[in-house]
Amino acid sequence: MTTSVIYGRYVLGMKAGEQVLLRDHYVYVNGTSIEAVTPDAPAAGTPVVRYEHSLVTPGFVNVHAHCIRGGLFRGIADDLEMEPWVPKLVYTILLPLTALAAKELTAEELRAVTALGMIDLVRGGTTTVLDMWHHGQEIFFDVAKDIGLRTVGAPFIMSSSNARIGPDGYPVWDFGNDGHAQLAKSIALFKARDEGREGLAQVAIGPHATDTCLPELLRDCRKAADDLDCLVTTHFAQTPQELALLRTRYGMGAAEYARDTGLLGERVVLAHAGCATDAELGELAATGTHVANCAYSFAREGMNFPYARFAKAGINTAIGTDSIGMDIVSELRINGLLSKQYFGKAHFGTAHELMRAATLNGGKALNRPDLGRLEAGAKADLLVFDLRKPHLQPVFDPIKNLVWKGNGADMAFAMIHGKPVVKDGRLLTMDEEKVMETAAAGARKIWKIAEERGILPAMPA
Ligand SMILES: [Zn+2]
Repeated sequence: MTTSVIYGRYVLGMKAGEQVLLRDHYVYVNGTSIEAVTPDAPAAGTPVVRYEHSLVTPGFVNVHAHCIRGGLFRGIADDLEMEPWVPKLVYTILLPLTALAAKELTAEELRAVTALGMIDLVRGGTTTVLDMWHHGQEIFFDVAKDIGLRTVGAPFIMSSSNARIGPDGYPVWDFGNDGHAQLAKSIALFKARDEGREGLAQVAIGPHATDTCLPELLRDCRKAADDLDCLVTTHFAQTPQELALLRTRYGMGAAEYARDTGLLGERVVLAHAGCATDAELGELAATGTHVANCAYSFAREGMNFPYARFAKAGINTAIGTDSIGMDIVSELRINGLLSKQYFGKAHFGTAHELMRAATLNGGKALNRPDLGRLEAGAKADLLVFDLRKPHLQPVFDPIKNLVWKGNGADMAFAMIHGKPVVKDGRLLTMDEEKVMETAAAGARKIWKIAEERGILPAMPA
C-alpha cells in the first residue's frame, strides 16, 4: 500500500544501473521503501508532496563524520596558526576534548551537542551517516532516533588514550592499554544496537587510526568485523607525520601497513587517504577498499585531498563531512573546485560525478545497495530541493545548478526511512532553538576547561 507520493519536476532516478534525470515523475513510497518511480500520477485526491519547481534526489550518504565534534568545536581551531596543523588539531584538541565531553557534560548537554551536529547534517542533506565517536557517547543512537537520522555508529577503538604532540612536532603515544577492552565494548554494542538493514541504526568497528592502534589491535578489529559481518572504518594516511611514524615504527608504507593489518578490502572504509602515493591508491582500488573523502576539512588546513584524485585511481570514493562543513551540497562544490584546481582542468570533479559520489558511491561503501538511489526496492530516503530561487534559475541542468550554486538551505523537504523529517524547510522532529541554546552552554563549558588546562586560548568574551 502506498504511504506517500512525492512529485518532482526533475527526479534523479535510475535506468539500467545508472543515474538518470527524469522529468515530471512521482516517487511512490510504501512504508520505509520506494515502491516505484514513475511518470504516472496518483489517483485524484491522493495527497502528494508537491513543490512545483523541484529537484528530487536520493538522500546523501555521508561516509565520515563526527557529529559530536561538529557541535562542540565550531569556530575554535579555524584559522589558528599552529604547526604541524593536523596532528596538533587531532591530538591536542579534538581527541582529548571530545573524550572530555563524555565525562564533563551533563546528559542533557551531551544530547544537545550531539543533536546540533546531527541537525546540521540533516539540513545539509545527509540522510545516512557513518559517524565515529567515543565510547561513553552511546546517546548518539538515541538522539539519531529522535531526529529520524539513519546512522552507522563506529565508536573509537585505540591502543593509546593519551596521544599528544612532542617537542619535535610528532605525536607521542603511551600505549597504556591495548585497546581490546574498547573492541569488546564495540562488539557488545553491535549485539545490543545493530538493527540490520531494516532498522535505522547499524554499528561498525572503528579503530581510530593507523598510528593510534597497535597492529595486533587492528588485526583483531578486522577479525571481529568479519565475524559480525559488519564494516571497519578508520582514519588512514591523513598526515605526513603518520606516514613517517609507520615507516619508523614498522618499516612500512601506509598501504603496506594497511594490508598487513587487515585494513584493505570491500568491507573497509578508509577516511581521507590523502597522503597515500598514487601506487598506494592503486592498491586500494585493486582491493575494493572505499575512501571517505572530506576535502573541505583538509582544505581549511592547507591540504588538498580532491575527490578526482581518488576517483581517477579507480577507487570507490564517497563523500564525508568530517566535523567541519556539515552541508553536503557545499562539500560537493568545494570538492569539485579543489579537483579542478588540482588537475588544472574544468572537466574534473563534475557536478554529476560528485552527486553520484554522495549517493550511489556512499551506498556502495556502506555495503548498502538499497541506499543512495531512487528506484523500486530502495529505502525511502530522499531530498526535495526547491529550485524556484534567483540563484538556481533558469534551469537547464538542475544538478549543475544545485552543486555550483546551491546549498542545504535550498532543501525544502527531506524523508528518511519513509518518514518526513524536514518540510517547507522546517525540521519536524526536534526543537532546534532549545538544542542550540543547550549545546552552546555545553560547548562553552568544554572550552572553559580546555582554557584552564592550557589546551585552548582564552575564550572570546
Ligand atoms: Zn575523522
